Amino acid sequence: MAEQPPPPQLWQTVAPVEFGPKLTDKTQSQALLISARQGAGFEVAAGQVSHAIQSRATQILLDFTAAGCAMRYFIDGQWEQLPPLDRETGDAMLFALKQVSLVNPADRRSAQVGSVAVKLKKEKYDLTLQSQGVPTGERVLVRLVAGQIPFDTLGDIGMRDKMAATFKQFLNDEADIVLITAPKGEGLTTTWNVSISAADRLVRDFQSFEDEARPEPEIININPNYYGGNTGITPFESVRKAILKEPDVYLFPEHVDAETFEMALKQIDKAEKKVITRVVAGGAVEGLMRLVAQYPEQRDAIAKRIACVTGQRLVRRLCDNCKIGFQPPPQLLQQLGIPQGRVALLYQPFIPPPIEQQVDENGRPAPITPCYNCQGRGYLGRIGIFELLTPGEQLRDALTKTQDLGRLMGIAKSEGFHGIQTEAVLTVARGLTSLDELKRAFARQA
Ligand SMILES: [Zn+2]
Repeated sequence: MAEQPPPPQLWQTVAPVEFGPKLTDKTQSQALLISARQGAGFEVAAGQVSHAIQSRATQILLDFTAAGCAMRYFIDGQWEQLPPLDRETGDAMLFALKQVSLVNPADRRSAQVGSVAVKLKKEKYDLTLQSQGVPTGERVLVRLVAGQIPFDTLGDIGMRDKMAATFKQFLNDEADIVLITAPKGEGLTTTWNVSISAADRLVRDFQSFEDEARPEPEIININPNYYGGNTGITPFESVRKAILKEPDVYLFPEHVDAETFEMALKQIDKAEKKVITRVVAGGAVEGLMRLVAQYPEQRDAIAKRIACVTGQRLVRRLCDNCKIGFQPPPQLLQQLGIPQGRVALLYQPFIPPPIEQQVDENGRPAPITPCYNCQGRGYLGRIGIFELLTPGEQLRDALTKTQDLGRLMGIAKSEGFHGIQTEAVLTVARGLTSLDELKRAFARQA
């Protein structure tokens, strides 16, 4: 009998990506690619990166030990184990990845960081490779950042319609400050991008002030002003130049020095201009407190001019194709604070039973085909649960006197601020996520 061919490896099941080494000289870049292609691991690398992107992974973790190359993908905020590569294949793949990322492929011990442009069909990605020798071998983290933010509207990122309409109004008002916040690594760049895109950019002039080393993803009708790096100018000079053009909105995606921020805030009083900025924070009230802590001299101006602050948590979105509805028992609704009769069904993910329990009525094996949409994960993608803080007089006053988060939160609530917990229940009631996922997301950050 003929021997069965081995099953294909994951990297063999997809069309490979194209690598674009970051060399300014095109001829050198071509020469590097030609040489890398001759290596045994080039096809593995191009296929594995493609497979990761198509699995919606944003990170790949590779652990090289004597036993082989263990591999994990980071998908929707969770690590997933993949079948390992044998050591020889893994080594060859890493050699190729290091070559195209412009780090020394022969060095398996030092900490190295490199990057390469990646193209899959028409989509562009930026791949960063970090490697470090460890006692058992080598550990490699590959990050994949999409060139385009894959969301268009505030609704796409999870904000409910009514809040989105209110927030848009704040984005379009004049002579105030809007602050956007998110916990570290929880989608701040995406929310920033989608929020600015939702503002009226056609009739107003938006100027964004960005560190040349960390440029923001492009937004149509937003004019970036770079400082630092090779520009030879400071944030202060960059804003001062822009003021001459009398823009309507000053965007600060990053913390700048006190003088620069003060100059921009003065444009609010002097010329009814607007400032939009962002900070990393666990919630809207905390974010507002952090903004004041970053610019203590501007405390009074911030307290007076802040219009609204967003806060957010990311949760996995239930797969629309396989989520299962259930009638919530009255006791559960009461616990969640949902009035009886308001919500007919809540939803939970469909998780297939263990393979030995996948049998028909006669006990014969009847394996369940995993959902084509989510590959049996029960979730697909992530959305934000948003809170929108609109400070009243008491909170503005307290902001100039205290840095006590508990007290500020209490005042915000007394002024009608709902907070993230209430919004989280609404997200479950809308069928977008499950109670289990809420528990997981909130336990993680409590
Ligand atoms: Zn599904």
